Amino acid sequence: ARQRGRNHIEFYSPDAWRRARRRLDIEHALRGALEHEEFSLAYQPLIDLSRHAVCGIEALLRWHHPELGSCAPDEFIEIAEATGDIVGIGEWVVREACRQAAAWDAAGLEFGRMSVNVSAVQLRDPGFAQRVLEACVDTGWPATRLELEITESALLLDTDALWACFDVLQGAGIGLSIDDFGTGFSSLSYLSRFPVGRLKIDRSFISELAGAGGTGRAVAVTRAIIQLGKALRMQVLAEGVESSADEQLLREYGCDEVQGYLYSRPLPPREMARWLQDQAK
Ligand code: C2E
Ligand code: CA
Ligand code: CA
Ligand code: CA
Repeated sequence: ARQRGRNHIEFYSPDAWRRARRRLDIEHALRGALEHEEFSLAYQPLIDLSRHAVCGIEALLRWHHPELGSCAPDEFIEIAEATGDIVGIGEWVVREACRQAAAWDAAGLEFGRMSVNVSAVQLRDPGFAQRVLEACVDTGWPATRLELEITESALLLDTDALWACFDVLQGAGIGLSIDDFGTGFSSLSYLSRFPVGRLKIDRSFISELAGAGGTGRAVAVTRAIIQLGKALRMQVLAEGVESSADEQLLREYGCDEVQGYLYSRPLPPREMARWLQDQAK
């Protein structure tokens, strides 16, 4: 009984209580967030290493709630996935990113593709692929210039429905990339079966690549992923590039594309437009 009593006290420690409270607050606030237009997108450029030019933009979700303040996607996305709210939110993200991309394109800004993060929960929703195509049609953004970033865990579903979804996306020319690559399960034979065109090496490896903190492990994993990409005829992008030393190494290893603070932080739309204009000069 004593033992149980102790566990009981531990479970309801002030810290655990605060965390549970915060989760409930977020869950509740998320319900009205779309309707109250509390979401926005930040944009980060993707850079082609051989041309040293922008080849795409990743849209990253931002949420500001009047009482909770700004809440990071790493905190609220997981909760939105658990409640199912991510389906509606994710649809808004695709539409808004396509709308913005089409507007920039019409204004003569060049940036290549627009890349959007998609959760496994969205892929599981039967109407998903169709709604993505509708977003392209409605906004006038060509499907061939849209890419969806999914995580390795999304491929674990491996159901008929997932394959049907990929068929629709692929048929329309929408690209697929694997995000946070190297951190998930990934059986390699498995990976090659999916219509994936690009691997994004997770930031955790890139941050340990160069400098005093450099580890042999990160170098080995990074090089292995780049080689794997080549063998499977996929493009490889390294995220979280913060120094020119990182860039130099990635160039040596044969990495195709990079993304990170070295080039630009994720920016609000106006600043992103200005960044693109400056690049074109
Ligand atoms: P991610 O897709 O891996 O996105 C990259 C994250 O790394 C972003 O964090 C970005 O701001 C950050 N980052 C980029 N360059 C650097 C760098 O050089 N150094 C460092 N330290 N960080 C860098 P953010 O915007 O907080 O997003 C976190 C995660 O939330 C994303 O990771 C993604 O998994 C998820 N997420 C963001 N937007 C969406 C969305 O619209 N839908 C879904 N389902 N998930 C999203
Ligand atoms: Ca991503
Ligand atoms: Ca990542
Ligand atoms: Ca991530």
